[in-house]
Amino acid sequence: MEAFKEKGNEAVRRNDYRAAVDFYLRAIEAGRDLPAQELAPLHSNCSFAYLKLNELAEAVSQAENAVAAKPDWSKSHFRLGEALFMSGNYEGAEKAYARASELAVEDQTLKKKVALAREALSGFYFRQLLAGRDFAVNAGNIIERQIFSSAKQMQNYVYLIGDARTREAVVVDAAWDVKGIRSFAAGENMRLVGAVVTHYHFDHTGGTPPPPFDQLGIKVPGVRELAVEDKLPVYVNRNDATTVMNSNGVPSENLTPLDDCAEVSIGSVKLKFIHTPGHTPGSQCVLIERPERGILISGDTLFIGSCGRLDLPDCNAKAMYTSLQEKIAALPTTTRVYPGHDYGGPYTTIAREKEQGFLKPMEEGKWLRMHGH
Ligand SMILES: [Zn+2]
Repeated sequence: MEAFKEKGNEAVRRNDYRAAVDFYLRAIEAGRDLPAQELAPLHSNCSFAYLKLNELAEAVSQAENAVAAKPDWSKSHFRLGEALFMSGNYEGAEKAYARASELAVEDQTLKKKVALAREALSGFYFRQLLAGRDFAVNAGNIIERQIFSSAKQMQNYVYLIGDARTREAVVVDAAWDVKGIRSFAAGENMRLVGAVVTHYHFDHTGGTPPPPFDQLGIKVPGVRELAVEDKLPVYVNRNDATTVMNSNGVPSENLTPLDDCAEVSIGSVKLKFIHTPGHTPGSQCVLIERPERGILISGDTLFIGSCGRLDLPDCNAKAMYTSLQEKIAALPTTTRVYPGHDYGGPYTTIAREKEQGFLKPMEEGKWLRMHGH
Protein backbone atom coordinates (compact mmCIF):
# COMPACT_ATOMS: atom_id res chain seq x y z
CA MET A 1 0.00 0.00 0.00
CA GLU A 2 2.74 2.46 1.03
CA ALA A 3 4.62 1.97 -2.25
CA PHE A 4 1.54 2.78 -4.35
CA LYS A 5 0.78 5.78 -2.14
CA GLU A 6 4.31 7.13 -2.59
CA LYS A 7 4.08 6.62 -6.36
CA GLY A 8 0.76 8.48 -6.33
CA ASN A 9 2.32 11.41 -4.45
CA GLU A 10 5.22 11.45 -6.91
CA ALA A 11 2.77 11.58 -9.82
CA VAL A 12 1.03 14.57 -8.19
CA ARG A 13 4.38 16.34 -7.88
CA ARG A 14 4.89 16.03 -11.65
CA ASN A 15 1.23 17.05 -12.29
CA ASP A 16 0.38 13.65 -13.75
CA TYR A 17 -3.01 13.35 -12.07
CA ARG A 18 -4.18 10.43 -14.23
CA ALA A 19 -1.28 8.30 -12.98
CA ALA A 20 -1.85 9.60 -9.43
CA VAL A 21 -5.49 8.43 -9.45
CA ASP A 22 -4.38 5.04 -10.68
CA PHE A 23 -1.76 4.61 -7.94
CA TYR A 24 -4.09 5.86 -5.19
CA LEU A 25 -6.83 3.44 -6.28
CA ARG A 26 -4.31 0.59 -6.22
CA ALA A 27 -3.13 1.67 -2.76
CA ILE A 28 -6.76 1.71 -1.52
CA GLU A 29 -7.30 -1.76 -2.99
CA ALA A 30 -4.08 -3.04 -1.37
CA GLY A 31 -5.13 -1.63 2.01
CA ARG A 32 -8.77 -2.83 1.98
CA ASP A 33 -8.29 -5.03 5.08
CA LEU A 34 -6.81 -2.20 7.15
CA PRO A 35 -8.90 -0.10 9.58
CA ALA A 36 -10.95 2.39 7.51
CA GLN A 37 -9.37 5.52 9.01
CA GLU A 38 -5.95 4.53 7.68
CA LEU A 39 -7.35 4.77 4.15
CA ALA A 40 -8.80 8.28 4.67
CA PRO A 41 -5.66 10.13 3.42
CA LEU A 42 -5.65 7.97 0.28
CA HIS A 43 -9.29 8.77 -0.49
CA SER A 44 -8.55 12.44 0.22
CA ASN A 45 -5.53 12.51 -2.13
CA CYS A 46 -7.47 10.59 -4.75
CA SER A 47 -10.29 13.16 -4.55
CA PHE A 48 -7.74 15.95 -5.07
CA ALA A 49 -6.31 14.21 -8.17
CA TYR A 50 -9.80 13.67 -9.62
CA LEU A 51 -10.57 17.36 -8.99
CA LYS A 52 -7.46 18.34 -10.95
CA LEU A 53 -8.70 16.15 -13.81
CA ASN A 54 -12.08 17.91 -13.53
CA GLU A 55 -13.77 14.54 -12.92
CA LEU A 56 -16.11 15.98 -10.37
CA ALA A 57 -18.43 13.06 -9.55
CA GLU A 58 -15.39 10.89 -8.74
CA ALA A 59 -13.83 13.72 -6.74
CA VAL A 60 -17.01 14.02 -4.65
CA SER A 61 -17.27 10.26 -4.20
CA GLN A 62 -13.66 9.86 -3.00
CA ALA A 63 -14.05 12.81 -0.62
CA GLU A 64 -17.22 11.17 0.78
CA ASN A 65 -15.20 7.98 1.31
CA ALA A 66 -12.59 10.01 3.19
CA VAL A 67 -15.28 11.57 5.41
CA ALA A 68 -16.84 8.14 6.09
CA ALA A 69 -13.43 6.65 6.92
CA LYS A 70 -12.42 9.47 9.29
CA PRO A 71 -15.36 11.74 10.18
CA ASP A 72 -13.43 13.82 12.75
CA TRP A 73 -10.65 14.76 10.28
CA SER A 74 -10.93 18.34 9.05
CA LYS A 75 -9.09 17.64 5.77
CA SER A 76 -11.65 15.10 4.55
CA HIS A 77 -14.48 17.64 4.96
CA PHE A 78 -12.34 20.28 3.23
CA ARG A 79 -11.82 17.94 0.25
CA LEU A 80 -15.56 17.30 0.11
CA GLY A 81 -16.19 21.06 0.21
CA GLU A 82 -13.76 21.63 -2.67
CA ALA A 83 -15.31 18.91 -4.82
CA LEU A 84 -18.88 20.07 -4.13
CA PHE A 85 -17.99 23.74 -4.74
CA MET A 86 -16.52 22.93 -8.15
CA SER A 87 -19.62 20.84 -8.91
CA GLY A 88 -21.80 23.90 -8.23
CA ASN A 89 -23.34 22.36 -5.10
CA TYR A 90 -22.81 25.41 -2.89
CA GLU A 91 -25.25 24.27 -0.17
CA GLY A 92 -23.25 21.05 0.28
CA ALA A 93 -19.93 22.89 0.01
CA GLU A 94 -20.95 25.35 2.71
CA LYS A 95 -21.85 22.50 5.10
CA ALA A 96 -18.62 20.62 4.37
CA TYR A 97 -16.38 23.69 4.78
CA ALA A 98 -18.23 24.66 7.99
CA ARG A 99 -17.64 21.17 9.45
CA ALA A 100 -13.96 21.32 8.40
CA SER A 101 -13.67 24.71 10.06
CA GLU A 102 -15.28 23.44 13.30
CA LEU A 103 -12.65 20.69 13.42
CA ALA A 104 -9.77 23.14 12.81
CA VAL A 105 -10.95 26.43 14.33
CA GLU A 106 -7.62 28.22 13.96
CA ASP A 107 -7.44 27.62 10.17
CA GLN A 108 -8.13 30.97 8.44
CA THR A 109 -8.28 29.42 4.95
CA LEU A 110 -11.27 27.33 6.00
CA LYS A 111 -13.07 30.40 7.33
CA LYS A 112 -12.53 32.06 3.93
CA LYS A 113 -13.87 28.96 2.17
CA VAL A 114 -17.04 29.06 4.29
CA ALA A 115 -17.48 32.73 3.33
CA LEU A 116 -16.94 31.95 -0.38
CA ALA A 117 -19.59 29.21 -0.31
CA ARG A 118 -22.04 31.59 1.42
CA GLU A 119 -21.26 34.26 -1.16
CA ALA A 120 -21.97 31.74 -3.96
CA LEU A 121 -25.32 30.99 -2.31
CA SER A 122 -26.12 34.74 -2.20
CA GLY A 123 -25.60 34.86 -5.99
CA PHE A 124 -23.70 38.17 -5.96
CA TYR A 125 -19.98 38.49 -6.66
CA PHE A 126 -18.12 41.77 -6.21
CA ARG A 127 -14.41 42.50 -5.87
CA GLN A 128 -12.46 45.75 -5.71
CA LEU A 129 -8.87 45.26 -6.93
CA LEU A 130 -6.25 47.94 -6.26
CA ALA A 131 -3.27 48.41 -8.60
CA GLY A 132 -0.03 47.48 -6.87
CA ARG A 133 -1.86 45.45 -4.24
CA ASP A 134 -4.15 42.96 -6.01
CA PHE A 135 -2.71 43.20 -9.53
CA ALA A 136 0.27 44.89 -11.21
CA VAL A 137 2.60 43.24 -8.67
CA ASN A 138 5.53 40.89 -9.40
CA ALA A 139 6.68 42.28 -12.75
CA GLY A 140 8.22 39.68 -15.04
CA ASN A 141 10.47 42.05 -17.03
CA ILE A 142 11.70 45.65 -17.27
CA ILE A 143 8.73 46.91 -19.27
CA GLU A 144 6.27 45.40 -16.80
CA ARG A 145 8.27 46.91 -13.94
CA GLN A 146 7.77 50.38 -15.48
CA ILE A 147 4.09 49.80 -16.19
CA PHE A 148 3.39 48.34 -12.74
CA SER A 149 5.21 51.17 -11.02
CA SER A 150 3.01 53.70 -12.88
CA ALA A 151 -0.07 51.64 -12.02
CA LYS A 152 0.79 51.80 -8.34
CA GLN A 153 1.28 55.58 -8.53
CA MET A 154 -2.04 56.05 -10.32
CA GLN A 155 -3.87 53.95 -7.68
CA ASN A 156 -6.45 52.64 -10.15
CA TYR A 157 -9.23 50.39 -8.97
CA VAL A 158 -10.46 47.54 -11.14
CA TYR A 159 -13.75 45.82 -10.32
CA LEU A 160 -15.05 42.31 -10.90
CA ILE A 161 -18.84 42.07 -10.78
CA GLY A 162 -20.96 39.06 -11.54
CA ASP A 163 -23.02 36.08 -10.54
CA ALA A 164 -21.41 34.01 -7.77
CA ARG A 165 -23.53 30.97 -8.70
CA THR A 166 -22.83 30.82 -12.43
CA ARG A 167 -19.28 32.12 -11.73
CA GLU A 168 -19.45 34.68 -14.56
CA ALA A 169 -18.14 38.22 -14.13
CA VAL A 170 -17.37 41.37 -16.04
CA VAL A 171 -14.20 43.32 -15.35
CA VAL A 172 -14.55 47.09 -15.03
CA ASP A 173 -11.68 49.31 -16.25
CA ALA A 174 -9.18 46.55 -17.01
CA ALA A 175 -5.76 48.16 -17.49
CA TRP A 176 -2.06 47.84 -16.58
CA ASP A 177 -1.91 44.08 -15.93
CA VAL A 178 -4.40 41.97 -17.86
CA LYS A 179 -2.53 38.76 -16.97
CA GLY A 180 -2.80 39.60 -13.27
CA ILE A 181 -6.50 40.44 -13.54
CA ARG A 182 -7.18 37.19 -15.42
CA SER A 183 -5.32 35.14 -12.85
CA PHE A 184 -7.14 36.83 -9.95
CA ALA A 185 -10.47 35.85 -11.55
CA ALA A 186 -9.28 32.33 -12.32
CA GLY A 187 -8.06 31.92 -8.74
CA GLU A 188 -11.62 32.53 -7.57
CA ASN A 189 -13.07 30.20 -10.22
CA MET A 190 -14.67 33.13 -12.03
CA ARG A 191 -15.00 33.26 -15.81
CA LEU A 192 -14.68 36.69 -17.42
CA VAL A 193 -17.56 37.32 -19.84
CA GLY A 194 -17.18 41.03 -20.61
CA ALA A 195 -15.14 44.20 -20.14
CA VAL A 196 -16.83 47.40 -18.99
CA VAL A 197 -15.20 50.77 -19.69
CA THR A 198 -16.22 53.73 -17.49
CA HIS A 199 -14.38 56.11 -19.90
CA TYR A 200 -11.65 55.99 -22.50
CA HIS A 201 -8.63 57.31 -20.50
CA PHE A 202 -5.66 54.96 -20.85
CA ASP A 203 -5.34 54.27 -17.11
CA HIS A 204 -8.83 52.68 -17.28
CA THR A 205 -8.53 50.93 -20.63
CA GLY A 206 -4.87 50.51 -21.56
CA GLY A 207 -3.33 51.56 -24.86
CA THR A 208 -0.89 54.33 -25.62
CA PRO A 209 -0.33 56.75 -22.72
CA PRO A 210 -0.76 60.50 -23.40
CA PRO A 211 2.27 62.79 -24.01
CA PRO A 212 5.02 62.89 -22.87
CA PHE A 213 4.83 59.17 -21.99
CA ASP A 214 3.89 58.21 -25.57
CA GLN A 215 7.59 58.86 -26.44
CA LEU A 216 8.57 55.73 -24.50
CA GLY A 217 6.79 53.53 -27.04
CA ILE A 218 5.22 51.48 -24.26
CA LYS A 219 1.68 50.23 -24.70
CA VAL A 220 -0.29 49.57 -21.55
CA PRO A 221 -2.24 46.27 -21.66
CA GLY A 222 -5.99 46.61 -21.22
CA VAL A 223 -9.36 46.02 -22.85
CA ARG A 224 -7.78 45.45 -26.26
CA GLU A 225 -6.13 42.23 -25.00
CA LEU A 226 -9.40 41.07 -23.43
CA ALA A 227 -11.27 41.80 -26.68
CA VAL A 228 -8.75 40.25 -29.07
CA GLU A 229 -7.34 37.35 -27.02
CA ASP A 230 -10.33 36.45 -24.85
CA LYS A 231 -13.01 37.50 -27.38
CA LEU A 232 -14.85 39.48 -24.72
CA PRO A 233 -17.50 42.08 -25.57
CA VAL A 234 -16.47 45.60 -24.50
CA TYR A 235 -19.24 47.74 -23.01
CA VAL A 236 -18.57 51.42 -23.58
CA ASN A 237 -20.78 54.49 -23.83
CA ARG A 238 -21.53 55.45 -27.43
CA ASN A 239 -19.78 58.83 -27.01
CA ASP A 240 -16.43 57.25 -26.03
CA ALA A 241 -16.70 54.29 -28.42
CA THR A 242 -14.79 55.81 -31.35
CA THR A 243 -11.87 56.80 -29.11
CA VAL A 244 -11.77 53.33 -27.53
CA MET A 245 -11.62 51.88 -31.04
CA ASN A 246 -9.00 54.27 -32.46
CA SER A 247 -6.78 55.07 -29.45
CA ASN A 248 -7.13 51.88 -27.43
CA GLY A 249 -7.19 49.60 -30.46
CA VAL A 250 -10.35 47.66 -29.57
CA PRO A 251 -11.75 46.12 -32.81
CA SER A 252 -15.20 47.48 -33.66
CA GLU A 253 -16.73 43.97 -33.70
CA ASN A 254 -15.91 43.64 -29.98
CA LEU A 255 -17.48 46.98 -29.06
CA THR A 256 -20.97 47.17 -27.62
CA PRO A 257 -21.80 50.91 -27.61
CA LEU A 258 -24.28 51.77 -24.85
CA ASP A 259 -26.78 54.58 -24.39
CA ASP A 260 -27.93 56.15 -21.13
CA CYS A 261 -30.01 53.67 -19.05
CA ALA A 262 -28.71 50.61 -20.95
CA GLU A 263 -28.85 47.32 -19.02
CA VAL A 264 -26.62 44.26 -19.23
CA SER A 265 -27.28 41.06 -17.25
CA ILE A 266 -24.51 38.79 -15.98
CA GLY A 267 -26.40 35.71 -14.80
CA SER A 268 -28.91 37.04 -12.28
CA VAL A 269 -26.98 40.30 -11.71
CA LYS A 270 -28.19 43.33 -13.61
CA LEU A 271 -25.86 46.22 -14.47
CA LYS A 272 -27.50 49.57 -15.22
CA PHE A 273 -25.43 52.12 -17.10
CA ILE A 274 -25.84 55.81 -16.34
CA HIS A 275 -24.34 58.20 -18.88
CA THR A 276 -22.47 60.84 -16.87
CA PRO A 277 -20.61 63.10 -19.34
CA GLY A 278 -18.21 65.75 -18.03
CA HIS A 279 -14.82 64.12 -17.40
CA THR A 280 -15.10 62.66 -20.93
CA PRO A 281 -18.06 62.85 -23.34
CA GLY A 282 -18.84 59.17 -22.83
CA SER A 283 -18.16 58.75 -19.12
CA GLN A 284 -20.58 56.28 -17.57
CA CYS A 285 -21.30 54.92 -14.10
CA VAL A 286 -22.53 51.39 -13.40
CA LEU A 287 -25.36 50.89 -10.93
CA ILE A 288 -26.15 47.54 -9.33
CA GLU A 289 -29.36 47.65 -7.33
CA ARG A 290 -29.18 45.36 -4.30
CA PRO A 291 -31.84 44.59 -1.65
CA GLU A 292 -29.70 45.92 1.24
CA ARG A 293 -28.00 48.87 -0.56
CA GLY A 294 -27.05 49.68 -4.12
CA ILE A 295 -23.55 49.87 -5.54
CA LEU A 296 -22.36 52.55 -7.97
CA ILE A 297 -19.09 52.16 -9.86
CA SER A 298 -18.35 55.82 -10.51
CA GLY A 299 -15.18 55.73 -12.64
CA ASP A 300 -13.62 59.22 -12.68
CA THR A 301 -16.99 60.96 -12.37
CA LEU A 302 -17.24 61.01 -8.57
CA PHE A 303 -14.46 60.55 -6.00
CA ILE A 304 -14.45 60.78 -2.22
CA GLY A 305 -14.81 64.53 -1.64
CA SER A 306 -14.16 65.50 -5.29
CA CYS A 307 -14.84 64.71 -8.92
CA GLY A 308 -12.74 63.81 -11.96
CA ARG A 309 -10.53 66.38 -13.70
CA LEU A 310 -12.31 69.00 -15.78
CA ASP A 311 -9.24 70.75 -17.23
CA LEU A 312 -8.45 68.33 -20.08
CA PRO A 313 -9.40 69.16 -23.70
CA ASP A 314 -12.34 66.72 -23.79
CA CYS A 315 -13.87 67.83 -20.46
CA ASN A 316 -17.13 69.68 -20.04
CA ALA A 317 -17.82 71.36 -16.66
CA LYS A 318 -21.44 72.16 -17.51
CA ALA A 319 -22.14 68.52 -18.43
CA MET A 320 -20.43 67.37 -15.22
CA TYR A 321 -22.72 69.64 -13.19
CA THR A 322 -25.79 67.92 -14.66
CA SER A 323 -24.28 64.44 -14.25
CA LEU A 324 -23.49 65.01 -10.58
CA GLN A 325 -26.28 67.29 -9.38
CA GLU A 326 -29.15 65.79 -11.37
CA LYS A 327 -28.29 62.17 -12.14
CA ILE A 328 -25.99 60.86 -9.39
CA ALA A 329 -27.49 62.96 -6.59
CA ALA A 330 -30.91 61.46 -7.39
CA LEU A 331 -29.78 57.92 -6.43
CA PRO A 332 -30.79 56.44 -3.05
CA THR A 333 -28.57 58.02 -0.37
CA THR A 334 -27.53 54.61 1.00
CA THR A 335 -25.88 53.70 -2.34
CA ARG A 336 -22.20 52.90 -1.92
CA VAL A 337 -19.99 54.68 -4.43
CA TYR A 338 -16.87 52.83 -5.63
CA PRO A 339 -14.56 55.22 -7.55
CA GLY A 340 -11.94 54.61 -10.24
CA HIS A 341 -8.98 55.57 -8.04
CA ASP A 342 -7.99 55.20 -4.40
CA TYR A 343 -8.02 58.86 -3.40
CA GLY A 344 -8.54 58.36 0.33
CA GLY A 345 -10.32 55.06 0.76
CA PRO A 346 -12.21 52.24 -0.90
CA TYR A 347 -15.69 53.78 -1.13
CA THR A 348 -18.05 56.53 -0.08
CA THR A 349 -21.85 56.95 -0.10
CA ILE A 350 -24.28 59.25 -1.88
CA ALA A 351 -25.32 60.58 1.57
CA ARG A 352 -21.75 61.48 2.52
CA GLU A 353 -21.00 63.20 -0.81
CA LYS A 354 -24.26 65.18 -0.53
CA GLU A 355 -23.16 66.34 2.90
CA GLN A 356 -19.51 67.14 2.30
CA GLY A 357 -18.56 66.30 -1.29
CA PHE A 358 -19.36 67.32 -4.85
CA LEU A 359 -23.01 66.23 -4.61
CA LYS A 360 -23.64 69.06 -2.13
CA PRO A 361 -26.39 71.22 -3.67
CA MET A 362 -24.85 74.14 -5.57
CA GLU A 363 -25.96 76.79 -8.08
CA GLU A 364 -24.84 76.00 -11.61
CA GLY A 365 -23.29 79.47 -12.01
CA LYS A 366 -21.17 79.02 -8.89
CA TRP A 367 -20.06 75.57 -10.09
CA LEU A 368 -19.01 76.95 -13.46
CA ARG A 369 -17.08 79.85 -11.88
CA MET A 370 -15.31 77.31 -9.62
CA HIS A 371 -14.16 75.54 -12.77
CA GLY A 372 -12.91 78.66 -14.54
CA HIS A 373 -15.97 79.75 -16.53
ZN1 LIG B 1 -10.01 59.69 -16.35
